[in-house]
Amino acid sequence: MSEVLFESLDLGFNIYHTRMPGHTPGPGRVFSSLIVGSEKALLIDTGYGIGDYRAYVETLTDKPLIVANTHGHIDHASGNCQFDEVWMNPKDYALADWHTSLETRRNSKDIGDYVDRLVDGPYKRLPLEEGVVFDLGDRTVTAFNCAGHTKGSMSFLDSKSRYLFTGDNITRRVVLLSVVNSTTLEEFRQTLHHTKKLSFDHIVAAHVPYLMQPEWIDKVLDIVENFDPRKGIVPPRNFPAKIPGLLPTEYTVGDGFDDPEYCGFVYDGNHLEEFLQGFALKQ
Ligand SMILES: [Zn+2]
Repeated sequence: MSEVLFESLDLGFNIYHTRMPGHTPGPGRVFSSLIVGSEKALLIDTGYGIGDYRAYVETLTDKPLIVANTHGHIDHASGNCQFDEVWMNPKDYALADWHTSLETRRNSKDIGDYVDRLVDGPYKRLPLEEGVVFDLGDRTVTAFNCAGHTKGSMSFLDSKSRYLFTGDNITRRVVLLSVVNSTTLEEFRQTLHHTKKLSFDHIVAAHVPYLMQPEWIDKVLDIVENFDPRKGIVPPRNFPAKIPGLLPTEYTVGDGFDDPEYCGFVYDGNHLEEFLQGFALKQ
């Protein structure tokens, strides 16, 4: 058992960004973030539920843990079962039931050779909504609505570092793929404007191993507001090739993930009309 399952990046301010086991499509892996305060610690996301993540977290802090999810996807909420209670937006409960089930994970390419190390079990969900404040002692962390990637996506603002934890919702390439589980482009645009009003110094995204500049949100907003469906790329780069019923389509600037300026989103070209409901195309 010498394999290292979890590895943390120290983001300063007693914040650890831990690379989680699993085979996430696209660049890099998925991360879980731990914010340690003087009295309590907040754990944001729990990965695929591979191995004993709780034991690992307890090597980083001995403070009582509060656990919350940015959203209910397989790579963010599947380790929830290792904790007694987890805060999640109720809009993502059904999505999480499906995504984090043992059956879904056993059949997912993301799990691959880790299938024998999956953990599962019951835990209690607490309803997360905008304005919930986690008091960690010398710092507070506040939750904000951040719908787009999923309908129940949330961001978290830490008072001490002024980092905004955005999960998969404000990142290098936002997946707005399913009209069932994601929002329309207009709702995502409104989320970006809502989030821009918050006062933060850096963005911490769940698949990005470094701090992102706050201006990144302007870049995403610019791409969204100038969306031209005629320039969609099929199939997207570094993306699962086939998803039944969907036509994954990429709208981006830059030359793929190796280009630091690469930014954009993925949508379902089969449901363009629903995706664009209420959105004013410029072109
Ligand atoms: Zn996600």
